[in-house]
Amino acid sequence: MRIDLHTHTTFSDGTDTPTELLVNAKAAQLDVVAIMDHDSTRGWVEAEQAARSTGVALVRGTEISARHHGVSVHLLCYLQDPEHPALLAQHEKVREARITRAQTIVERLTPDFGITWDDVLAHTSDGATIGRPHIADALVTAGVVENRSAVFVQLLRPGSPYYVPHYAPDALEAIAAIRSAGGVAVFAHPAAFARGRVVPDNVIGEMAEAGLNGLEVFHRDNPLDQRERLTSLARTHDLFITGSSDYHGDGKPNRLGENTTDQEVFAIIEELGVTPVVRA
Ligand code: AMP
Ligand code: FE
Ligand code: FE
Ligand code: ZN
Repeated sequence: MRIDLHTHTTFSDGTDTPTELLVNAKAAQLDVVAIMDHDSTRGWVEAEQAARSTGVALVRGTEISARHHGVSVHLLCYLQDPEHPALLAQHEKVREARITRAQTIVERLTPDFGITWDDVLAHTSDGATIGRPHIADALVTAGVVENRSAVFVQLLRPGSPYYVPHYAPDALEAIAAIRSAGGVAVFAHPAAFARGRVVPDNVIGEMAEAGLNGLEVFHRDNPLDQRERLTSLARTHDLFITGSSDYHGDGKPNRLGENTTDQEVFAIIEELGVTPVVRA
């Protein structure tokens, strides 16, 4: 079985619609794929229909933007109750905060590069969770920078004068909310140093105590020499290990199925979650 538990669609910063995602998952010979848009479950309905017609099993979830003492922490939330009020309210609050924050970033970019808020909206699908990738796409279209990845390196990384953070819930509270919504909580790309600061070992211990279930060890943004450290932390804290692509369509080089998760781990996630896996 080929199982990829981390992808994005046009409902956040991916470039495939949910239907295109499922078609591409089938072409990539995946048996199971998870739709994990940032801070949103809006792609679930379309993805469910596409899963039934393509025959690829679908795990529905969300990638939650959280923070621990100023350090960005992404939490993969699998198979939660999508109507859970606390989680829904949190998604909405973060999506709202992302809009004002993106507008502030654009206000800083306009004098130097001429891009406007309308340019960014032109790259954002209706109802999508807005993020830096949409701003990056506007800069690429304007000919300022070559591609999304280069924009991050040159202009949008933390520490850049154009960078602005957005409100995000505390990571430990977000884990508690995921679990109370019947979801399964996995720490996404825990050693992604290239994106900014990462949390130390003891914080992963605190996250485990708060109800974390797993660590996404096999992800291209975790440097190879960090994977041993993460695997040993998983053993210490009784966390399972996943591997995923973090596919964003054409928005990133990440390819579907470039990292995968073991069938036994998928079975644990399915067992723990309250929302069923969609099967044709
Ligand atoms: P934001 O959600 O606005 O903070 O932007 C974070 C998103 O930007 C992540 O979900 C990735 O999709 C993308 N991203 C982060 N770092 C990079 C990078 N170095 N190169 C390309 N895309 C990135
Ligand atoms: Fe993303
Ligand atoms: Fe992430
Ligand atoms: Zn992601």
